[in-house]
Amino acid sequence: MNPILIGIFGRGTFSFFISFIQEVTKPFLQPQIMKKLPHKLYALSVAALLVINLFFSVSLKGQENHTKIEFPDIPGFRTLKCDFHMHSVFSDGSVWPDIRVQEALRHGLDAIAITDHLEYQPKQEDVSSKDMNRSYQLARQAAQGEDLLIINAAEITRSMPPGHANALFLEDANKLKQENVMEAFMEARRQGAFVFWNHPDWTSQKPDGVAEVSDMHLELFSQGLIQGIEIVNGGTYSEEALQIAGEYNLSFICNSDVHGLIDWEYDLARGKHRPVTLVFAKEKSEEALKEGLMEGRTALWFENTLVGKEEFLNPLITSSLTVERQGRSIVQSILLKNQSDVNYILENQSDYNFHNLAAVFTLEAHETKLIQVKTITPLPSFSLQFKVLNAFTAPRSHPEITILVK
Ligand SMILES: [Zn+2]
Ligand SMILES: [Zn+2]
Repeated sequence: MNPILIGIFGRGTFSFFISFIQEVTKPFLQPQIMKKLPHKLYALSVAALLVINLFFSVSLKGQENHTKIEFPDIPGFRTLKCDFHMHSVFSDGSVWPDIRVQEALRHGLDAIAITDHLEYQPKQEDVSSKDMNRSYQLARQAAQGEDLLIINAAEITRSMPPGHANALFLEDANKLKQENVMEAFMEARRQGAFVFWNHPDWTSQKPDGVAEVSDMHLELFSQGLIQGIEIVNGGTYSEEALQIAGEYNLSFICNSDVHGLIDWEYDLARGKHRPVTLVFAKEKSEEALKEGLMEGRTALWFENTLVGKEEFLNPLITSSLTVERQGRSIVQSILLKNQSDVNYILENQSDYNFHNLAAVFTLEAHETKLIQVKTITPLPSFSLQFKVLNAFTAPRSHPEITILVK
């Protein structure tokens, strides 16, 4: 897609313009209309209109593909792209629940949870329903016939400690409206929920932006009433939360916490993307998703950065790369193909250096890159090692991957 055209028209206007061009030219391609023209003019007009249609169809296709987030599955698991924190008009969000569904479908997500605040409904004078399951029900209706899992959920909204927490896979969100905060968490467990601590670094509740575990949190962790923690919430990333997740064996979580429109908050036209939690599940179902979350099989993707435990990050990265050897020279040409949406920043840790690249280079999303490896002697097979600089397994450590060239 031509970035200048997107810049001028904006994405929505551009789609409209493309559809308009296609609709206007379509009738002229009907033979009964065109036959009335002289033979040569007819042939010329058909050719010109076909070229116009083809150009705009390809442009539109490219645009659609670009908005869908793509990651490969890993051995034994499906990679589900999820957002478990978003709001609608049923609390302090600005959109009806069906918009959350349409956004998720546009971005190729596998599961979403609308998590309206249990204790905060500033729009109740205009949106009078007191049923906290209502946004879930409306999203379910909107997603009917679509391959998108909608999870019933709500946000427990308290002062710190414990702050805010999202409870997923609820049977009845209304029952979590409890005077005593511990009772709300107990009710979530009675319903078999997966609960995670939201934005522990939120400066409205923690002015220094440093996530910190209180006695109440220790109690909630030890009783298994909180099983995960948001390391990424919208535009924030907490290294302290990552540290806490490692220390207390909490699942790593990454969400948008969107209140307005995703497309306005993340500049998709400039190659940006919404934050997502990747859940490695045995299949695409609500049960398998819940099991994956409970067992901590997740990775995070935000701002072109991956965060996760080595056991999931390494297979995710290596599954997204394929290598093809070209010929058998001692300056060995290989083609490294990236099948994910990540622009990988790779640092060479191999025994060999490269003829055409420096020790640090970027392998762009969906790019196939030529790497000329100076093996010095002819080798039947060899391996390359890379440190992935925009991926983290702990606050300051990067995963290292090995690529076997045969
Ligand atoms: Zn919150
Ligand atoms: Zn929220």
